[in-house]
Amino acid sequence: MVNEKLRIAQHEAGHAVVTLALGVPLVRVTMTNTKGFSDHGDMSNLPEPERRRRKTILCAAGRHSQIRWNPETKGCGCDDDNKDIDAECSFLETYMEKEGKKFHRDTFKQECLDEAEDLVAKHCVSIDLLVKKLLEYGALTGDEAAKAIGWQNPQFSQMAKKYRFRFTAYALFFLAGSVVAFGSNSDSYVQLYIEAVILVPLFGIPACVLALINRDPLLKLLAVGTALLFGFQILYVNDAGLSTEALNLYARLFAASCLLAPLGVFVGLVFSTRKSRT
Ligand SMILES: [Zn+2]
Repeated sequence: MVNEKLRIAQHEAGHAVVTLALGVPLVRVTMTNTKGFSDHGDMSNLPEPERRRRKTILCAAGRHSQIRWNPETKGCGCDDDNKDIDAECSFLETYMEKEGKKFHRDTFKQECLDEAEDLVAKHCVSIDLLVKKLLEYGALTGDEAAKAIGWQNPQFSQMAKKYRFRFTAYALFFLAGSVVAFGSNSDSYVQLYIEAVILVPLFGIPACVLALINRDPLLKLLAVGTALLFGFQILYVNDAGLSTEALNLYARLFAASCLLAPLGVFVGLVFSTRKSRT
């Protein structure tokens, strides 16, 4: 009879090692006597169909890993993985149909299952090492698991790249907001002109460009706000009759939203640490 605890360890170690082998961040891998989980990090930076391909492969790796060591456990404890694999295939089928691209669901699924099997075979020594660690500790963070097999967890480099971009956009909005907050109190026409024509576009335009090519909804909202501000300022500079009070109120609201923008980073962090369990 197969030791259930050992089967779970072999299953989860397969998910975890293949996750790392695919260059996907590993959040954690855990197990008890009756169940186990392997959580992978965000893959939203990957384009389709690559994102679905990697997800399908890492889902299939658990089963391949357990049957490599214990062929008699075939299909045991894999219902959730099979559901996930089918969900990924269905999603991709709909997506490819919308894009008008050719897609053979069964071929895609079989290729992913084959690749999972190959990766498990290729990294069987690492999986074995992780099985021992899992049986010993029960739970490991992604970094601990990667370290246990002498690998790097790709989590941090990918996140750093993503956030450098987002932080730059927020910093530019912050500067644009600060310029408006301090500048709009001025009575000097020249100072307002410099602010409107040079300073705000200097920070605001690059911020808008970054915001438009980023997925972050808050950044997009700020981009719309900045565009409206440009419009108001141009009207104001052209003396089109907008009252100073109205402009000041508007500018202050905009400045406040820019100064609060770092909150968006937290929203982004919550989104990016969303993970899936296999
Ligand atoms: Zn699984």
